Amino acid sequence: MRKGTRKKRLYNKYMDIWQVGNASGHTAPIRALIERRLKAHGIPYTTDTIGNLYAGDFTKPAPCLVAHMDSVHKEPPRGITCNKKGILRARTGIGGDDKCGIVALLELLPARPDVNAIFTVDEETGAQGAGAIPPELLERTQYFIEIDRRGNSDLIIDICGLIASDEFITAIDKTRERYGFEYEYGMFTDIDVILDEVHTSAINLSAGYYEPHTAGEYVKLPELENTIDLAGAILDTVERKKYPIEPRSYSYANTWRGQGRDRALDFPPTDYAEELELLQQEALYKYSAEVVELITEAYYLGQESAQVRALDYIEE
Ligand SMILES: [Zn+2]
Repeated sequence: MRKGTRKKRLYNKYMDIWQVGNASGHTAPIRALIERRLKAHGIPYTTDTIGNLYAGDFTKPAPCLVAHMDSVHKEPPRGITCNKKGILRARTGIGGDDKCGIVALLELLPARPDVNAIFTVDEETGAQGAGAIPPELLERTQYFIEIDRRGNSDLIIDICGLIASDEFITAIDKTRERYGFEYEYGMFTDIDVILDEVHTSAINLSAGYYEPHTAGEYVKLPELENTIDLAGAILDTVERKKYPIEPRSYSYANTWRGQGRDRALDFPPTDYAEELELLQQEALYKYSAEVVELITEAYYLGQESAQVRALDYIEE
């Protein structure tokens, strides 16, 4: 393959995915495209009533991949371009967050029938899809790899506390290094919600998208290829067994979604101040400036009334 062609491989192969609109609450079209590809590869799948898609056999112990089907962009991508360097964008936002994750899962699954995957709905509106997954279904999951992080080299092992065990981190460490990834703190996402119920190791990987939640969002496809290779190498080399973790005492999910209001009162510890800032930026896309202000008051100043008001808003 010519060089430019190779860099654009994932653009050409997944044109249907890049082109489809997938605003939160409107994920049926992208789900149909994913289902068609799973079917073509003979991968079994099911859906639940809210629209999450489960690929593989959850009755067997297996690692589980995670990505979300929805995006913040209200309009379908228009004016899509992909240059010779494999930089992909659209005038209205390409939706790389988290179409990159979708593409990665679709690349990884066919060669690995012993790996499961969850394609969630409504991550962008508070990980509502992930919150609706019955925890029993994930009981046999050995570890999770989520692919839903901006940039090219973050390997998230901490969201309000460690989400991967020492044993798991040791098992992936050489592979991580080979692909140029660094350990990082992460923020609110599907895996944060899932780990409130299921206490096994998880990581979240940079997926090669940049400036998510803006019309200027773009994807560096060669970086997405690198992420896919890293995830594949982890799946192919890490010993297949469960890697339990200690339950975290709080999470963005249980503070933000009102499941642990009392615990949220001493949130955040000073170490997480920077991550909280990112969370607030994130909230700004999802909710109004007023809610963000209330969250800030609540969490920085420990004002219970502000917190309750913010949660009421969010739950509306
Ligand atoms: Zn995302």
